[in-house]
Amino acid sequence: MSELSERFETHDPGEKKMAEKIRCDACPVMCYIADGRTGACDRYGNVGGRIVRCDPLTILEHTEEAGGAVTPFLAEGEDWNGGLVNSGRRFVSGIGAGTTYPDYKPAPFIVSQEVEGVDLVTVVTEGIFSYCGAKVKIDTDRHLGDETALVRAGGEVIGHVSTAEYGSQMLSLGGVHHLTGGSKAEGRATCDALLALCNKEPVELSIDGGVDVVVQAGKAPVIDGRPEHRMRVGCGSATIGMFATQWKDLVDEVVVVDDHITGVVSEHQAGKVLGWQDTGIRILGRRSTPGRYFKVSEPGLGWGGTTISDPLQILGEWNPKKGARPGLSLLMVSTTGEQFAYFELDGDLKPVEKPFPERLRKSVDLIEDNCEPALCTVLFVGGAGGSLRAGVTENPVNLTRSVHGLQTYVTVGGAPVYVWPGGGIMLMVDVMRTPDNSFGYVPTPALVAPIEFTLRRDDYEKLGGYVSEIRTVEDVVARGGEYLNPRRGAGAPGVNPWPPLATLRNAPGRQR
Ligand code: SF4
Repeated sequence: MSELSERFETHDPGEKKMAEKIRCDACPVMCYIADGRTGACDRYGNVGGRIVRCDPLTILEHTEEAGGAVTPFLAEGEDWNGGLVNSGRRFVSGIGAGTTYPDYKPAPFIVSQEVEGVDLVTVVTEGIFSYCGAKVKIDTDRHLGDETALVRAGGEVIGHVSTAEYGSQMLSLGGVHHLTGGSKAEGRATCDALLALCNKEPVELSIDGGVDVVVQAGKAPVIDGRPEHRMRVGCGSATIGMFATQWKDLVDEVVVVDDHITGVVSEHQAGKVLGWQDTGIRILGRRSTPGRYFKVSEPGLGWGGTTISDPLQILGEWNPKKGARPGLSLLMVSTTGEQFAYFELDGDLKPVEKPFPERLRKSVDLIEDNCEPALCTVLFVGGAGGSLRAGVTENPVNLTRSVHGLQTYVTVGGAPVYVWPGGGIMLMVDVMRTPDNSFGYVPTPALVAPIEFTLRRDDYEKLGGYVSEIRTVEDVVARGGEYLNPRRGAGAPGVNPWPPLATLRNAPGRQR
């Protein structure tokens, strides 16, 4: 029996088999699995008395044609006959690699490969992330809910509304308190929602005191049943700054309605520089600086993320001593250009809506043209600084130091990550850059995410790595892993770069 087989031997010496079931030891749940069945997470099954990782190991291929990008290794497919027909450089990802548990065991794959004269090692595993969540960015002007409002999935609280950013609303979902700190139902709902979001599936969220929103990575949000189309071009003040010249001599006054900063061109610095005349307009809001107004309305689903459907609601009396006169023309427009209206003052200095003039159509179209498509962005956030490191090196803190010293490059399913400064290996990855179905779960509950650590072989040796477990890519391709999983190309991973050799070669903190 090989050393690796022993690692996954499902019974302790002398231990009695429970009926025909064998034990999966890939996570703390330790399922007993009958022949032909899968365990609680559906990731492992009993196939003829052996524990098998049900999903195929995903191997990515580096192609020069794609400018050094990592592309799917599809040539062999599921019907691969074992021949080394593809000569491109391969990257064994953590997707389908399996997990070792307890953590002191070496990771499922420790793979060496010479790339451009550099002997590299990639340590490959599927990490079980009890401490994880998703940061969600929803491009919209509309008010989804108050900051700190609870976010629910299936009725359970799974996170909260975070800050509003420039044209987007952030949500903070998951985290250990929702996964394991609440009721079982809360943990399950959180895990289900995170898993679906990270695997780029749609999830319906309900915000207390706010809206229902369907979130799907890479797709437009659907807010109270209505798909969002555009992300605003900027705040009301920025819109004035960008387009003041387009309106000069075509209209006497322009108001860009925005929940955050409503802009007024005649008062704004951009208008002043262009010689815009005073109009005697009065905005019902809190004046910040000239031509910039806060709180013209409560936040909502109307014009520019306000509650209003009639923009005249934000206007006070017009002052004839400051330039108001009958016939004065006024354009009111939202920050996405989706809502717009044209008015002229009557004899009593009351704005009266008129047919929208063709001369202003181009400027409104320009606002719309400058808006980007509204999307949802999902970043998986997880702490890999815990016991997972012990599968890489016998001295786990060395891995953390190596990552922060830029000697070790971390990827999730081949996708580059952002590692937070400070303690541990706290990483964030855009799920759109990971191959489809990269994420799994275990019912503890926790998310399972692929993770790869790539570094120079000599650095790995100095790190205290499991040198005797190092295998070649060819060996992995030929023999797979101890879980007997097949090899298969992944779904399109986009254009993730190959681990940067120059960085690894010349890392300033690299051990000598
Ligand atoms: S939940 Fe999955 S990984 Fe954990 S023991 Fe059961 S089958 Fe194995």
